[in-house]
Amino acid sequence: MSGVLDKLGRPLRDLRISVTDRCNFRCPYCMPREVFGENFPFLPKTAVLTFEEIARVACLAIGLGVRKIRLTGGEPLLRRDLVSLVGMLAEAEGLTDLALTTNGLLLAGAARALKDAGLHRVTVSLDALDDALFRRLGGTDRPVADVLRGIRAAADTGLRLKINCVVQQGINESEVLPLAAWCRSEGHTLRFIEYMDVGNHNRWRHESVVAAAVLRERLHEAFGLVPLEPAWRGEVARRFRYADHPGEVGFVSSITEPFCGDCNRARLTADGKLVTCLFASGGTDLRGLLRSGASDDQVSSALRSVWQAREDRYSELRAGTHQPDQKVEMSYVGG
Ligand code: SAM
Repeated sequence: MSGVLDKLGRPLRDLRISVTDRCNFRCPYCMPREVFGENFPFLPKTAVLTFEEIARVACLAIGLGVRKIRLTGGEPLLRRDLVSLVGMLAEAEGLTDLALTTNGLLLAGAARALKDAGLHRVTVSLDALDDALFRRLGGTDRPVADVLRGIRAAADTGLRLKINCVVQQGINESEVLPLAAWCRSEGHTLRFIEYMDVGNHNRWRHESVVAAAVLRERLHEAFGLVPLEPAWRGEVARRFRYADHPGEVGFVSSITEPFCGDCNRARLTADGKLVTCLFASGGTDLRGLLRSGASDDQVSSALRSVWQAREDRYSELRAGTHQPDQKVEMSYVGG
């Protein structure tokens, strides 16, 4: 299988596929209710890629070097019959890692079928264990217990599991140690993600970011951390194990220690745009090509050209003067 390199010599390895732009949460930092309200123009069904279209792009991307696919959204478990798509992708030759990112609300009822269909891993976003804070951060009236039930159900099926927590200064810093203690006791790997300036609506400010180094120090003081070697080039998290415990914790520092140099990730939006940076202002439409009767060679060569033309490294440039006017929304491009 031939690989493809971008202008900075980065290979294409990782494809994130947003299967819907809709979500059952209204996290103020991602999909604030005042913007994504009842009248928000979400994509009509006909605009969203079918499972066959998604699987076709995925297989062609695998032909160009992709080894890892993550299904995301919006909330991917809102997409009807997602299990069928998982089954289709699980059969794709050459794929070594098939993962799903979810808020976990619907996971309890879906975990067994997802595992049976061939999903390898689930990442559950969880920003607080405290119920009132969880509801506030999720813009939801559902209890955190529903998500914990989903996590337990996924673990029971044998799916590999990770918990992701976005930490915001003065909002959920109080949750950092309780979450780490809970993940340790439950045997779940935990990732702390720096709050990023994605999208246009979350009123992001640099002061809201809690630097990964600060969190690392806090966890080290509380539990003792031992660094782990990166498992592969381009791994975004800096990983640690606990000194006295087999559990693992990692830190993703897109803001304070950008890692664009190793970024090997493309994103496919729910309506078929190929986006090569989380902070991009747009993407390349593949849906038109897919629906125009294009051959596999034509679609593959479109994918190849987009990747070969890629030179974005927004996180590294953020500190300078470069600021895109309008960025794609996280819920649209897929977190
Ligand atoms: N609905 C799914 C979920 O909640 O995991 C998948 C989509 S969601 C956009 C994916 C991840 O993006 C979540 O973990 C969320 O916390 C994270 N996210 C959203 N906005 C973010 C921001 N501004 N900075 C960092 N992470 C963000």
